[in-house]
Amino acid sequence: MEFLKDLGLKKIMPGISTGTDWITHKNGNTSTICSPVDGQVIAHVQKAAAEDYDHIIQTAQKAFSLWRSLPAPQRGNIIRIIGDGFRSHKGKLGSLVTYETGKPIQEGLGEVQELIDICDFSAGQSRMLYGMTTVSERPSHRLFEQYHPLGIIGIITAFNFPLAVWGWNAMIGAVCGDVSIWKPSSRTPVSAIAAQKIVAKVLQQNNLPEGIFSLLIGDRDLIGERLLNDRRVPLISFTGSVAAGRHAATTVAARLGRSILELGGNNAIIITEHADLSLAIPAVVFGAVGTAGQRCTTTRRLIIHDSLFATVKKQLVRAYKSIQIGNPLSATSHMGPLIDRNAVQSYLLALAAIENQGGTLVFGGKVLEGAPYDASCCYVQPTLAEVQNHFPIVQEETFAPILYLIRYKGDVNQALALQNQVRQGLSSAIFTTDYRQAEIFLSAAGSDCGIANINIGTSGAEIGGAFGGEKETGGGRESGSDAWKAYMRRQTVTGNYGSSLPLAQGIRFDIS
Ligand code: NAD
Repeated sequence: MEFLKDLGLKKIMPGISTGTDWITHKNGNTSTICSPVDGQVIAHVQKAAAEDYDHIIQTAQKAFSLWRSLPAPQRGNIIRIIGDGFRSHKGKLGSLVTYETGKPIQEGLGEVQELIDICDFSAGQSRMLYGMTTVSERPSHRLFEQYHPLGIIGIITAFNFPLAVWGWNAMIGAVCGDVSIWKPSSRTPVSAIAAQKIVAKVLQQNNLPEGIFSLLIGDRDLIGERLLNDRRVPLISFTGSVAAGRHAATTVAARLGRSILELGGNNAIIITEHADLSLAIPAVVFGAVGTAGQRCTTTRRLIIHDSLFATVKKQLVRAYKSIQIGNPLSATSHMGPLIDRNAVQSYLLALAAIENQGGTLVFGGKVLEGAPYDASCCYVQPTLAEVQNHFPIVQEETFAPILYLIRYKGDVNQALALQNQVRQGLSSAIFTTDYRQAEIFLSAAGSDCGIANINIGTSGAEIGGAFGGEKETGGGRESGSDAWKAYMRRQTVTGNYGSSLPLAQGIRFDIS
């Protein structure tokens, strides 16, 4: 693959970087990374050992003492240049993301665009790290808040967004004056290495020291656990499954560290009797089939008003029949493979559970066989199943293209009750042309998710808004809006420019 060479990638590569330098081991452990697209080896990546961990932390600590003192707009300018680096490699990076994850090329390019956008956003944000000024209750006093850099951020990311989620954290964190150590998913480390190479060039060209953006590719038990337990890392940003996130959250909490959690979703779209199906059907299909159902915001449950159930089901079956499954590097493929054979196994287990729990398969349900699918064994059919919301399998997030069709009767509150009756709370959407229904969905008694959309699907968030979800999704917020505040330490300052010492709340403490 030409794009691998163009990105400076080799067959054997170190997976440990201080930002500017790579650390190699002659006899270190390596991981072999294969593409789910065609089963071919992309690279052998050398994994970090215990001694690398300490070296990376010490280098990051040193870098922090310099980086935090650089004026924030100057930090923002560096991030702008890094963004330009990603911009000029967009096509190649997008192809790599597609080849390593299996997501269609349009989505691979979209992910790189998101990375570029977050660099632009961060550059702007670097001039807006503002604190609030308020009035003091005491005479001749001033009261305000300011934000300071926090330190080293440990960024642990999932396989399905191998670049963008790192960008949300590392770029915003960097303009806030933090340095970062990235542990990418061990299933998609090659995209991380490619991004790191682009960053390294910018750091070197601008005479910046090592340690601002570090990369540690290694086992979760060795590297991941160390990051979670390390008091020198005040903030862990963890993106992944609920189970792993629960472990991450409790480990960081045990040392009273700070964590941002971006965990699994179980996202629903409500189609009311007033829905415009010409909008709803394509949104549902993209939401359920995009990234082969492996987005945290994938549409997993479709809650359909009884009066439209048969029509929606028929239109979805027709749309699903037209889905082109194949090599995601081809512009005509709507859907590529799942990430690996374990994911295919989860898909099959979920199908068996649907049947055992009383559900009915409406479409799909097969692993694709024959050429070209046999090369990786990771291609499956997108699947529709008629179920009830309370089935245990429906309550879980199966990271595969399975869309559950759920019928509701009565008013929109019945649909909302079903939507909210899951443990996760990431993304939600309603399709309706009725203003009252839309407002009920958005009200305090409406959707309990971090993301609530009207007449657009559950996936495909813009970076300008804060991203994240409630309940078992973890409560974290990343990306735009005021998400930057989580990467800084907040300080409340009260200054006295008077000649007496009045105490707050009128407390008297007179000494002679
Ligand atoms: P995963 O939980 O298997 O792994 C996520 C990351 O955590 C990986 O880097 C992994 O190595 C690391 N990890 C796992 N156990 C660890 C431990 N004990 N200590 C330290 N690190 C550990 O998730 P995945 O399969 O890569 O990704 C899919 C999941 O991520 C889905 O549940 C999806 O919904 C979720 N996700 C959420 C968001 C979001 O923003 N809410 C975004 C993308 C993915």
